Amino acid sequence: MIKLENVTKVYKTGVRAVNNMNVNIGPGEFVYVIGPTGAGKSTFIKLLYREEKASSGKVIVAGEDVSKIKNRKVPYFRRNIGIVFQNFRLLPKKTVFENIAFTLEVTDTPRVEIRKKVRRTLELVGLEDKANAFPHELSGGQQQRVAIARAIVNNPKVLIADEPTGNLDPDTSIEIIELLERINEVNHTTILVVTHDKEIVQKYKKRTILIEDGCIKTDTSTGGYANGI
Ligand code: ADP
Ligand code: ADP
Repeated sequence: MIKLENVTKVYKTGVRAVNNMNVNIGPGEFVYVIGPTGAGKSTFIKLLYREEKASSGKVIVAGEDVSKIKNRKVPYFRRNIGIVFQNFRLLPKKTVFENIAFTLEVTDTPRVEIRKKVRRTLELVGLEDKANAFPHELSGGQQQRVAIARAIVNNPKVLIADEPTGNLDPDTSIEIIELLERINEVNHTTILVVTHDKEIVQKYKKRTILIEDGCIKTDTSTGGYANGI
């Protein structure tokens, strides 16, 4: 589902953020991406949804050679990918329902179909009673659930979460991680979670990729920080 072959990204400033990276992530996998600040984690995921272009090497996502996609086709390509950020990024003047429906409206999905999909997704994230609430009326954890619902309503092949628990307390963080695991199980979505949270990585024994200095330092199938890092 995700494949990088000898991928390097050098920014205009000369910073080599990703350095000859190779990785292979299969359909339905759940993977943690960890590493210190500045290691290249954000750059790695930006390469996956074509927010950045690789300087060299090959990035394949959902069967597409990402660097070959024409600019005008990028929005279509991105329908394969759901993205969740640390700071939720909800539209403040829209309700929960509208925030989630928004991505379907741009794809010309019929109204009845939109309503059905949004309802089903709200149920999956446990917010069926909050459809008419505005983001500011919700807790941080609830807002993140809405952001997750928005990211998955279109049933993308890949879900990327960049520090999804960074603004949340430990108990709420665990709820969010367990929700992502449920989505992985129910929808078979390939999920990447970038995190600084050592407890989560230790607790949920999943494949964990450690990035340092733009390279994959370790890639363990059982989770946890290798060598006491
Ligand atoms: P992480 O997400 O692990 O903190 P990043 O991918 O954000 O790492 O950054 C990797 C390196 O690339 C850092 O040295 C960072 O300062 C640099 N960097 C990130 N984005 C840009 C950019 N748009 N332009 C120039 N340098 C960047
Ligand atoms: P976040 O915490 O939301 O990921 P960051 O502070 O890591 O935000 O980065 C904000 C933006 O600035 C990103 O688009 C990133 O690529 C860019 N950026 C990060 N480091 C640098 C840098 N050294 N030079 C230029 N842009 C950078």
